[in-house]
Amino acid sequence: MRPRMPFVGGNWKMNTDLASAVELAEGVVASCSGFAQQVDIALFPPFVYLQAVGRALGHRAIVLGSQDLWPEPPGAFTGSIGPAMLADLNVRAVIVGHSERRLHQCEDDRLVGRKLRVALESNLTAVLCVGESLEQRESGLALATVERQLGAALASVSEPDPLRLVVAYEPIWAIGTGRTASPADAQEVHGAIRQVLAKRYDAGLSRSVRIIYGGSVNGRNASDLLAQPDVDGGLVGGASLKAEEFTAICAAAARRAVQV
Ligand code: PEP
Repeated sequence: MRPRMPFVGGNWKMNTDLASAVELAEGVVASCSGFAQQVDIALFPPFVYLQAVGRALGHRAIVLGSQDLWPEPPGAFTGSIGPAMLADLNVRAVIVGHSERRLHQCEDDRLVGRKLRVALESNLTAVLCVGESLEQRESGLALATVERQLGAALASVSEPDPLRLVVAYEPIWAIGTGRTASPADAQEVHGAIRQVLAKRYDAGLSRSVRIIYGGSVNGRNASDLLAQPDVDGGLVGGASLKAEEFTAICAAAARRAVQV
């Protein structure tokens, strides 16, 4: 079996301005390009800075990603960005179903599923986010919640390319809070996600899909999380806004790649 290549994504959310976005991208290129043989690295800047960040990344191995997409062909969708526009800017990855969009933009499982299908059909690498709230975790519903979200999103995806489907387990209570899931808790959920993939598709596909963890990952906790057998990388918010911190996470992922 081919080992899974770790995947580390930097989700910049609604941060940076034009100058700092370019500076950050240049910093990541300077310090992370050396890991790109062992780690898939993607940056997800705000839509309006995609083109400038894409230029800063050049044709290097670091992938340009979008934080969202609207799952329709060009047309009357005010304020939305479709897959053809992303392709035009050499965007190769997209985040789908982030909990902040589920919460603030009222995205439901059905819409997330449509976005996932269109992203994969558009040859994008899709980072599908799932994760439970604190209340759901404390009520013992963490696994059931993640399994429901995953099942709903995958319902309309019949044969995904395992290399372009990435599942991000992001417990909502860990996002931006400085509170991280323990490596054992993360592994438990990642293992369950792999089982859902095996049931929905087959064992081979389930072994190839990257399952990454998101929620207050930083340069200090990345190695312990990545030491878990089913933690194949990270989706990083706050710590991706500092090139040095993001580099430390990519370095931890590169060390894992060597150990697999
Ligand atoms: C995220 O936004 O996907 C995320 C995990 O954020 P943070 O790393 O800041 O918790």
